[in-house]
Amino acid sequence: MDLNNDVKYVKGVGPNRVVLLNKLGIYTLGDLITYYPRDYEDRSKPKLINELVDGEEALVRGFVTSKMLELKVRKNLAIYKLIIRDETGPCTITWYNQPYLKKMFTVGNEYSFYGKVSRKGNRVEMNSPVYDGGDSQKNTGKIVPIYPLTFKLSQNTLRQIIENGLKEVDNQLEETIPEYLRKNYNLLNINNAIRNIHFPQEFSDYKNARTRFVFEELLGMQLALLKLKNQYTSEKVGIKFDENAKMSDVINDLPFRLTKAQLRVLEEIDNNMESPKTMNRLLQGDVGSGKTIVSIIAAYKAVKSGYQVAIMAPTAILASQHLESFTEVLNKYGIKCKLLTSSVTKKNKDEILEELQSGEIDILIGTHAILEDNVVFKNLGLVVTDEQHRFGVRQRSKIAAKGKNPDVLVMTATPIPRTLALILYGDLDISIIDELPPNRKKIETYAVRSSMTERVNNFVRKLILEGRQAYIVCPLVEENEDIDANSVIELAEDYKNNVFKDFRVEYIHGKMRPKEKDEIMQKFKDGEIDILISTTVIEVGVNVPNSSIMVVENAERFGLAQLHQLRGRVGRGDYQSYCILKYNGGSQVVRERMKIMQDTNNGFIIAEKDLELRGSGEFFGTRQHGIPEFKIANLFEDMPILQTVQALAIRIIDEDPELEQEKNKELRKIVDKKFGDRIEI
Ligand code: ADP
Ligand code: MG
Repeated sequence: MDLNNDVKYVKGVGPNRVVLLNKLGIYTLGDLITYYPRDYEDRSKPKLINELVDGEEALVRGFVTSKMLELKVRKNLAIYKLIIRDETGPCTITWYNQPYLKKMFTVGNEYSFYGKVSRKGNRVEMNSPVYDGGDSQKNTGKIVPIYPLTFKLSQNTLRQIIENGLKEVDNQLEETIPEYLRKNYNLLNINNAIRNIHFPQEFSDYKNARTRFVFEELLGMQLALLKLKNQYTSEKVGIKFDENAKMSDVINDLPFRLTKAQLRVLEEIDNNMESPKTMNRLLQGDVGSGKTIVSIIAAYKAVKSGYQVAIMAPTAILASQHLESFTEVLNKYGIKCKLLTSSVTKKNKDEILEELQSGEIDILIGTHAILEDNVVFKNLGLVVTDEQHRFGVRQRSKIAAKGKNPDVLVMTATPIPRTLALILYGDLDISIIDELPPNRKKIETYAVRSSMTERVNNFVRKLILEGRQAYIVCPLVEENEDIDANSVIELAEDYKNNVFKDFRVEYIHGKMRPKEKDEIMQKFKDGEIDILISTTVIEVGVNVPNSSIMVVENAERFGLAQLHQLRGRVGRGDYQSYCILKYNGGSQVVRERMKIMQDTNNGFIIAEKDLELRGSGEFFGTRQHGIPEFKIANLFEDMPILQTVQALAIRIIDEDPELEQEKNKELRKIVDKKFGDRIEI
């Protein structure tokens, strides 16, 4: 038994099913058995027919009282009806288009049925149930796992394949949690747990099994984080910046007054900077809360203390935007800022590198290009990374290594609930700007059905005629970026040639070369484009104050936190701004989510709700690098376990920083195998 074996060797998996399994991310035997159920159905406890409640799914047992009735309603529709009875009354069982069922039942025999009940008064029916005859327990009589599935692969099939997989594993899984921990925390051993999570006898079985795997997953993450933190902050003595380089010099010169929150955060940063300890601070603030100016003021202090500053942004557009902001404020103090991105010409770059090394450049602003080895500072004292979730710990430490324990300020607009932030960013102190600058107009948000397109378009037209600009955002249709690009291009062509043909319409998507994207963004900033159609590439930090409306297509496909980020692209100027969320589908959750977006502009509230409604897996999604995706843990539901595990991880790492002790050898494996490469905080 080797967990790395290709899943195609599992019994019941033929060439077609391999493809379907791969689509679910199942490639190996190990993937298969750790494809955990999302829910369970209790098909173990039969109910009496007269107890059945309309709408519920239930198990009944009854004797067949008459022959199956076949009703050919239309050419393509045949209905099959079977009457059964238990001691409390009759129930009609209905199936559609399944002629083979005619042969399956014998009058007078007893069968079990599990399915959805419909009940009107005393008339009880069950539609398309699964069933078993006699004592068979193939489909009923037990608790059945429900897997997250897409089309084409049925629950039954996957269930069978997983069962076969478990047979192959045959209780031979190697334990991954040390015995002393399993004892102390009352955790199931791995072989029991894996069986019980798929095929529990009792509901408590699955709960216990799940707890064990959640514990393991979160403990692995916490240990990995703490190990990283130890690695990067072992030398604590950093720079003590000059008390006479006063932040207030800049603050008093600004054309606006800082908010209370900005001032408080600056004081926290100032204290860190003047202390000899290295600053590692996370600055969280909603979109538009004014994080940039905070970093500018911190940079001023560093430069006036005789040090250089590096500012890292995730995209070239943002970097050049920062250059503008920094230059605008700091120019008059004789501070020299330069931009370094991958599109800087060789000649220019050589010049920049030289000036950087000689100390002529005070502040270098750029993208990942700054990380390259030939970028050498004379005296790097402060590192600022913007939009944190795009950079990982490793990158942060790589840039920090260009100085001698420089202070680090990490800025993010990804609103993470505070409880969670404290745990996930355990290695950083946290500052929060929880207030927007005054006089910000609330972005008016409307969730409308897609059928309202014409009215929405008229509204967009009206605003453009008033001189504003518009964003139209399309979702990622699939993982496949080609399709993604096509949907944008198609929509753009349609708008260009029809509805908005009298306007300047352009599109931008993730597959374009960075240079192309930058050019289009620049044109949009310069007001040469009226309507910019895009995927979420504009999500981060772009500042075009003249754009006052954003239309989001298929808003139901976005996470709330992401919608909120997107929405932050408008409302950055003096104009009343609007966000129109066009959605399809009317499920309760969709409507609830749209309503939250309409009702609040507070990113932190939205993040909490999003987490609650969608669970952590989707909340953090694949886009938000930085926080590992969890296979089973849900950071919302599993907060109590996370808290336990965090305290435990601290104790373990304090005692055994490298996890070298014999009793922790399993833990070292978890950390190396599962989190070694993935963690990017
Ligand atoms: P974000 O936190 O999203 O990065 P920015 O730093 O880009 O926000 O700030 C958004 C805008 O608000 C900028 O144009 C900035 O100059 C302005 N701003 C920042 N602080 C204040 C303030 N206290 N009063 C008025 N405007 C401010
Ligand atoms: Mg910003």
